[in-house]
Amino acid sequence: MTEIILSPLKNRRIENGHPWIYDNEVADTKGDMTQGEIVAVYNHKKKFIGKGYANPRSHILVRLLTYQLKEEINKAFFKRKIQEAYSYRQKLGYQDSFRLVFGEADFLPALVIDKFGDYFSLQTLAFGIDQFKKEIVEILEELFNPKGIYERNDVPVRELEGLSQQSGFLGREFPTKTIITENNFKILIDIANGQKTGYFLDQTANRASIAPFVRQATVLDCFSHTGSFAVHAAGYGAKKVTAVDISEVAIATAKENASINNLANIDFVTANAFDLLKEWAKEGRQFDVVILDPPAFTKTRGNIENALRGYKEINLRGMKLVKKGGFLITCSCSHFIKPDIFKRVIFDAAIDAGKIVREILYKPQGNDHPILWNVEETLYLKFYILQIL
Ligand code: SAH
Repeated sequence: MTEIILSPLKNRRIENGHPWIYDNEVADTKGDMTQGEIVAVYNHKKKFIGKGYANPRSHILVRLLTYQLKEEINKAFFKRKIQEAYSYRQKLGYQDSFRLVFGEADFLPALVIDKFGDYFSLQTLAFGIDQFKKEIVEILEELFNPKGIYERNDVPVRELEGLSQQSGFLGREFPTKTIITENNFKILIDIANGQKTGYFLDQTANRASIAPFVRQATVLDCFSHTGSFAVHAAGYGAKKVTAVDISEVAIATAKENASINNLANIDFVTANAFDLLKEWAKEGRQFDVVILDPPAFTKTRGNIENALRGYKEINLRGMKLVKKGGFLITCSCSHFIKPDIFKRVIFDAAIDAGKIVREILYKPQGNDHPILWNVEETLYLKFYILQIL
């Protein structure tokens, strides 16, 4: 087994439980490291830290899987970890649809598995974990006897690992459009064509938390995707909901979702939210509640400034459409935008708009996407309910 000796570290990030070892943190390598190989990592005093899979082609050279030298990395290892991840979710009461494995936070770096009823959608985002895809599929078959498993590896980040972007069935084919249950609503999702793994389960609890704010209200749901916030709002008793998305496919799905939940009071608009909000602000339109759940405006550290401009603009425009005393429900799903920075951007927008903001509720992603304090990247979703005065 190749041995990796770390440079003396300024911070003790790795020894304190962060599983990534960057290529510039290594002092010495003993052995001919191959792509995907399980390597042993030692600190500069030769104290064993952990074992993980290596990728000499990636800036993240190693991702640690275990902190025990003797623990074998094989199918039994992955089965144990996936069972642990499942037990945690069962304990919390998750049943039909939830994130079964949330990568680093479940000690399975770069592996994402979502359970959508009887189906599974997975991502293997690093070379090392991709090597175990066959075993992972077998484990899901053994533990859940699912009706189907799909890979959504159509993500650019795989290219940094020397992997191709790909998606498709892992095993038998099945209809990828399926209806899941979320907070007692029926949600039609498309595992093959929906965003990311098919659907955003990270907002499930947050969607439920809008109930007291939308009753009898006029609601604007921007960046609606499958219309799940819109469906929740209408189902919780909103007077009228308007769902906006730039994608026709998303709007078509959102319409189906309104219909399968027998909700007739949702209007749908296919438009660029930036332009539409500006136009509607000019026209003086007002809503009791405005929901903003945009895509991650940045997927890289280098683009943070642009992303912040995007967040500020959308929040400024959104806020102007909220009636005095109404609510702005606003989110950011990029881990590069830290919670304090996101808060600052919304506050700046409020100051520019001449509004007073009262914080009612702040939550991160749902508990099936746990946050590992030792791995700051695992906190990514910020969800605010703010009263605009
Ligand atoms: N609110 C959704 C998730 C939103 S994902 C949920 O609860 O699941 C982001 C959505 O924003 C995508 O559906 C995408 O099509 C849409 N989108 C991206 N840019 C947009 C823009 N400029 N205007 C409107 N919609 C946009």
